Amino acid sequence: MKALVKSRPEEGLWMERVPVPEIGPNDVLIRVKKTAICGTDVHIWNWDEWARKTVPVPLITGHEFVGEVADVGAAVTEYRVGQRVSGEGHIVCGHCRNCRAGRGHLCRNTLGVGVQRPGAFAEYLALPQHNVVAIPDDVPDEIAAIFDPLGNAVHTALSFDLVGEDVLVTGAGPIGIMGALVAQCVGARKVVITDINPARLALASRLGVRNTVNAREESLARVMQRLGMTEGFDVGLEMSGAAPAFRDMIDAMNNGGKIAILGIAPTGFEIDWNKVIFKMLHLKGIYGREMFETWYKMIALVQGPLDVSGLITHRLPADDFRDGFSAMRSGEAGKVVMDW
Ligand code: NAD
Ligand code: ZN
Repeated sequence: MKALVKSRPEEGLWMERVPVPEIGPNDVLIRVKKTAICGTDVHIWNWDEWARKTVPVPLITGHEFVGEVADVGAAVTEYRVGQRVSGEGHIVCGHCRNCRAGRGHLCRNTLGVGVQRPGAFAEYLALPQHNVVAIPDDVPDEIAAIFDPLGNAVHTALSFDLVGEDVLVTGAGPIGIMGALVAQCVGARKVVITDINPARLALASRLGVRNTVNAREESLARVMQRLGMTEGFDVGLEMSGAAPAFRDMIDAMNNGGKIAILGIAPTGFEIDWNKVIFKMLHLKGIYGREMFETWYKMIALVQGPLDVSGLITHRLPADDFRDGFSAMRSGEAGKVVMDW
């Protein structure tokens, strides 16, 4: 089969012919239809420090996908050939304390599809049946192809009660935009999204995020004044991984505010911890999606009020992956979806 492989420890990815993966008794073989490119895939392409530490070579990359069941292992009872599926890309161990308590997202032994084990940028993907998620008929393929990052957004946004709350989202990348839309859908009062890239802010507003702010041009203090907010934000969703954004967020929170942190900073950075203490802030780190609560809620949201289709700005055949990756690296793209 065709697959996009990190076959050498250097910059780039290569389309290669590799064997179709073999499946064990508990696995599902998926004929991949569409995949989307994640920022993580760009790190793997760039072969930066994180990728060098994390990714074994050679490895098929990619973890955002939708497809159809092509074959099932002998012990698979829940899926049948032809069924439309996506799946959770974090493979958990099943035996650590958190796994056994039903908190798979907190597993200590998580392995990432397309990061530490063979990925979805391929014609076929083998996935444990536990990780497979059936896609209802009324959810389009390209939306299901971005369920992994949408799940990040939903997990982050639904970490705290948002009803009637003022919510600050820092970073209008695909995940920040989806997070802001989720916050609006579930009944937040004011939702403000910041970025420093005008193209990203324009995309956010095209998708319906009501308050977009260029953090280089307007301070959050000024924004709050303009919106008639006198005390500060109740909930923060950190989706940029940028130190200045996180510091601005801490300053703009009300006392007792809650911050869910998804953005990953390329290097460590300092914050004023005394502000966290005297403002009595709650900080919560987010990794991946809750298994599988996030999936149920996300599917219900896209079947209902949440429309993220406008986020997909590029659609191309997998053979044109170079164009897809350059669109991602330009910082102007929303989601880039490739057909397999
Ligand atoms: P992205 O890189 O497309 O978006 C980040 C955005 O932050 C960019 O638009 C950038 O211009 C903006 N930004 C930079 N500096 C800023 C500032 N000072 N103020 C406001 N915005 C600023 O990333 P994405 O794909 O949307 O993902 C969001 C973040 O989440 C990334 O850091 C990514 O690495 C991380 N991530 C984490 C997980 C997890 O499980 N924790 C999963 C996926 C992605
Ligand atoms: Zn575990």
